[in-house]
Amino acid sequence: MKSGHSGFPVLPGSAIGVLGSGQLGRMFAIAARRMGYRVHTLSPDEDTPTGQVADVEVNAAYEDLDAVREFARGVSVVTFEFENVPAVTAATAAECTPVRPSGHVLHTTQHRLREKTFLSNAGLPLTPFRRVASCEELAAAASELGLPAILKTADFGYDGKGQFRIKSGDDFGDAWRAVGEREAVLEVFVDFEKEISVVAARTGSGEFVHYGAIENEHVNGILDTSIAPARVSPKVAREAVELARAVMDALEVVGVLCVEFFVTKNGGLLINELAPRPHNSGHFSFDANLTSQFEQQLRTVCLLPLGSVLQFSPAAMVNLLGDLWSNGEPDWKHAVSMADVKLHIYGKTMARPGRKMGHLTALAETTDAALEDARHARRLLAREDC
Ligand code: AMP
Repeated sequence: MKSGHSGFPVLPGSAIGVLGSGQLGRMFAIAARRMGYRVHTLSPDEDTPTGQVADVEVNAAYEDLDAVREFARGVSVVTFEFENVPAVTAATAAECTPVRPSGHVLHTTQHRLREKTFLSNAGLPLTPFRRVASCEELAAAASELGLPAILKTADFGYDGKGQFRIKSGDDFGDAWRAVGEREAVLEVFVDFEKEISVVAARTGSGEFVHYGAIENEHVNGILDTSIAPARVSPKVAREAVELARAVMDALEVVGVLCVEFFVTKNGGLLINELAPRPHNSGHFSFDANLTSQFEQQLRTVCLLPLGSVLQFSPAAMVNLLGDLWSNGEPDWKHAVSMADVKLHIYGKTMARPGRKMGHLTALAETTDAALEDARHARRLLAREDC
C-alpha cells in the first residue's frame, strides 16, 4: 500500500506534490525540505518561487490532465498553495493519490457564492449578501441591502481584485462592467472597527491548533501588515478561534485554513473570507512560532501529529510589494541591519506594483513595538526618510 493512502502517514523521504508555485508553496517547500521530504510543484509558470526550492518543477497547464495524472503518480500526497486550481485538476490528482485538503474544500472556498452559502447554512455569522447575475438584479439587491455596498466576482477574486465599491445608484453600470458582467456577489459595506484572522490546522481526527487572533490592515484591498496577537479583547479573540474551529469542523478540513473576519464597532464578528491553506496573515509564524503554518500544513497533509504553536514573542509582519522597486533595487543591507527583523524574499523575477515580492517579520516585547520595528525596516528598505 502506498504511504498516504488509508490513513498511513507520509514519512520523511517521500515526495509531496504542490499544485501552484507561488510564495506559499515556496515556504511550504522550505518547511518540507527541512524535514527531509522531497517537493514537486506543478503550475503553468517557469522559474517560480516554489520551483526554485522544490526538487522538481513541472510546467503544465492545470487543465492538462495527463500531466496532472503523471505528476500525482510521482508523489505520495498532493496539496495546493492557492485555491483557484480548477476543481477538475484536484479531482484528477485524487484518482492517483490522496489530495489534502480534499477537493470539496477547494470547491467550496474557490467560489464566493458557494462559500457564503455554506457559511450561512452552517449558521455562521457573515456579511449580508445577495447573488447577482445581471445589472437589474444588482439594482434590486442594492435596494434590499442598502448602500454603500461592494460587488465582488463570484470566483477567482483575491487581494481586492474583481471588486467594485458602490456608493450610489449611478455606479451600477460601472460596477457590473468591473466584475466582467458575470455572476457576482453584492455585499453590505461593513464599517468595521478592525480586521482580524485566525489561521488554524486540523487533522482528520479533529485535532485543532491555532495561532490566535491576528490583526490585519489592508491597503487598496491588499494585506499590508499583520500583528500577532491582535489588539482585541480576550472575548473577541476566543470567539474568533471558536468560529474558525466551527468552520473547519463543518468543512471537515484536513489541513490549514484561514478565516478572515471583520470586527464590528460593537465587538461582533463577521466572516469575510476563507482560505483553505496557509495565509499571508500567518507568515509571522515562520519566525515567531515553534511550528509555522507551513509545517502544520505539511504535518496535516502527511497525517502526522500537529506541532506546538508556542509563540516566542509578539510579532508583526509587513508585506513588501513590487512598488518598493519603483526607485530601483531596495536597500537590502538596511533590511538586515535590525537584529530582530527577518527578511523573506520570494524570488519573483518581475517586480510589479501591488505584487507581493516578500515580507519582513519583527519580534519584540509588545505588538506595538514589533509593528514599529517592521514598519521602520520597510522604510529603510524603501530609502524613505525615517
Ligand atoms: P476580499 O478580497 O474580499 O478579502 O477583500 C479585500 C479587502 O477589502 C478586505 O480585507 C477589506 O479590507 C475590504 N473589504 C472587502 N469586503 C468588504 C466589505 N463588505 N466591507 C468593508 N470592506 C471590505
